[in-house]
Amino acid sequence: MKKLPVTAKLLAPVAIKRDRQSERSESVHSIAGTMVRGAIAAIYLQQHGEVDDTFNHLFLDENSCRFGPLDPGPNCFPLTAATCKREGIEHTLVDQLWFRIAQHHRAGSVPNNAETPWRQCDTCEADLQSLNGFWQAENGHPREKSNDRQQVAAHVGIDRHTTTAAESILYTLEALQPSGQEEDLYGWLWADDDALTALKQLLQNEDYRISVGHHRTRGYGDLHLQLGNPVKKNDSQPCTEDWEQWNRDLIAFLSSPPLSVPDLDPDNFYFSLSFPTGAVFVDRFLCYTLDPADLISWLPPMPSADAAFPIQNRPTRQLASGGTMCWIAAVTRHERLRGWNAAHGLPRQDEWATARGSVYVYRFTGTATEREELIEQLATLSEEGVGLRRNEGFGRVIVSDNFHRQFCKQEV
Ligand SMILES: [Zn+2]
Repeated sequence: MKKLPVTAKLLAPVAIKRDRQSERSESVHSIAGTMVRGAIAAIYLQQHGEVDDTFNHLFLDENSCRFGPLDPGPNCFPLTAATCKREGIEHTLVDQLWFRIAQHHRAGSVPNNAETPWRQCDTCEADLQSLNGFWQAENGHPREKSNDRQQVAAHVGIDRHTTTAAESILYTLEALQPSGQEEDLYGWLWADDDALTALKQLLQNEDYRISVGHHRTRGYGDLHLQLGNPVKKNDSQPCTEDWEQWNRDLIAFLSSPPLSVPDLDPDNFYFSLSFPTGAVFVDRFLCYTLDPADLISWLPPMPSADAAFPIQNRPTRQLASGGTMCWIAAVTRHERLRGWNAAHGLPRQDEWATARGSVYVYRFTGTATEREELIEQLATLSEEGVGLRRNEGFGRVIVSDNFHRQFCKQEV
């Protein structure tokens, strides 16, 4: 599959409710891959009238076509990102993952003042708080993509029987407003050659306009998609040397003051798995889980809190290709996925996904040859993704995200 950047320009406000129950529900800032896929599938059915092989190829086969979410910025902050509580990113931006790893190693024995750089803003000494949302690189530094383009409009309810204005029923609707610029939202598409040709043909017939979200009959939800050129194979392939450098820098960070973790083995290999679009993990009983080890057989499971400390006692997993691995740290949470099944005209069953920006850290111990085997497995994982609903953009994996290295300390 080829990877293509996608951008979208809003032609009308887009309203997507966070909660299907409430009349005053706030809207979300991203358009889920599920909705992008659904909107394009609806166009396909309008043009062709029925489900055929091309339809299955485009919308049901996750090895030939995948639709990513459309977000206000090209990158999602990991759950470990933190910023000044008062002045935000203007003051500081720090990533707390490496600090968390040190905490796991030292388990409560880190002196309080050693933690200050990851708890307080260097500029104004206000507390740090976690930073959600999206960013875009500008001169090598992330710029937060603001969420202030929300509009609120009051609408009159429509009486179901008379189809005229219903008496004393008013409701407000929050929506994402067009900025007037060419690019309001950013996303990705993965497709093989056949799927891409079919998709371009399909969108061309519609002038690349699709329609998503609520209240489309009231003029909401129109957007114009732009497909970029496929990313060259070399650029899209993960650079395994970066992972080694990430590991070396992490070990240097941990062993130096103020965190000074003792007895680190420089031959160990640390890596992280990040899920920028979220992921749907289920265990062998099809119960929702937060542990990627339930789906990736060679990962060690996350132990219960009692079994996790001290870190030397953590359960390890022997890999078939040699070497052992143990879980080190994770910052993750559940997120509810909602949806609408247009074919049935009914809500989809809610699912519990691992939230966007979740990250897990593991440590591998083994020989150089065994490590190469592991790195190959990681490369495959980052190419294929993991979990359910991958053709709706879930389950993308970034190995050892550079963000954690770049912002491990506050910049002065
Ligand atoms: Zn500050």
